[in-house]
Amino acid sequence: MNQPLLTANGLIKHFPTRGGVVRAVDGVDLEIQQGETLGLVGESGCGKSTLGRLILGLIAPDAGQMALQGDNPASVSNGAAHFRRRVQIVFQDPYRSLNPRRSIGDAIAEPLLIHHLETKKMVRSRVAQLLQEVGLDPSVIDRYPHQFSGGQRQRVGIARALAVQPELLVLDEPVSALDVSVQAQIVHLLAQLQQQRSLSYLFISHNLGVVRHMADRVAVMYLGKIVELASVRELYAAPCHPYTRALLDAVPEPDPAQPLEAQLRGDAPDPIAVPSGCRFHPRCQLARRVAQEAEESIEIGNVQRVPLVCHNQEPALREVVPGHFSACHFAEQLMPLQHAAAPTIEGKVAV
Ligand code: SF4
Repeated sequence: MNQPLLTANGLIKHFPTRGGVVRAVDGVDLEIQQGETLGLVGESGCGKSTLGRLILGLIAPDAGQMALQGDNPASVSNGAAHFRRRVQIVFQDPYRSLNPRRSIGDAIAEPLLIHHLETKKMVRSRVAQLLQEVGLDPSVIDRYPHQFSGGQRQRVGIARALAVQPELLVLDEPVSALDVSVQAQIVHLLAQLQQQRSLSYLFISHNLGVVRHMADRVAVMYLGKIVELASVRELYAAPCHPYTRALLDAVPEPDPAQPLEAQLRGDAPDPIAVPSGCRFHPRCQLARRVAQEAEESIEIGNVQRVPLVCHNQEPALREVVPGHFSACHFAEQLMPLQHAAAPTIEGKVAV
């Protein structure tokens, strides 16, 4: 495999609060290949947006290192201008990221002028080109954000991100605020642009249904950690972490081939009160099942037993089958069943 575009090792970002320390990102290793879409999924508060901001260089990690082919980690943590140009973001709600008093032409021109990529004389025609590239008529260049629909504003947000010719786009829930039909158009546009420009994407979403149509590989995050990482085909056909199974069961596409026994139970995760051992153990259905036959188990919350190893020992993210990583002590118990019942999964959206 070629040298990854982005490499992150041991990234940690904690936020002290009055209630305690929020362990938003708690030791994440990640690689994104050139031209690849890496989906990053998990519930609200799992740390995926903080991880996105670390990768953008908007916030500095407490520990860990990142490198973007050729840029050293020190420059990354300092948020160097060169790094910022190579990695851009598309927000969930472009309306909030656009100044309502500035025309969209000015908004797209701004990064071009800041990074000295265009002269004032030439910038307008470059903006017009970018508008065309994202499917907007260049004649709208002098309009203001409130004059556009949600989908059109997202196209403006994408044009603004593309203006500085980045190599990696962090797409932070880019379609979750849009109607389903508009979502499909934006997903299609992103796929088209990726092909044309050899872009890499970090596609952050709480929606596994959307990620399935965009990603090459998927990383599943829970309470600041990656708990499963695999190709999109492998992850959807044979998830080998109980949390991923529960997320997949929550996707609103009933599939009789998928067992529905795994469900998310218990309280939503609290990044201040991270459980001991495996941080998923208070909600884990597999742990309940394994505890019935485990040599040593422990009662938690007066109703549930879990294996002692789940309660005491944090599982490392390990390769269960080639290219498929899981942070579960009992991942192998899920694999044969899943592979036997594997449904056919479509690949990335065709353009
Ligand atoms: Fe569940 Fe134990 Fe696996 Fe954690 S290590 S996911 S608690 S079975």
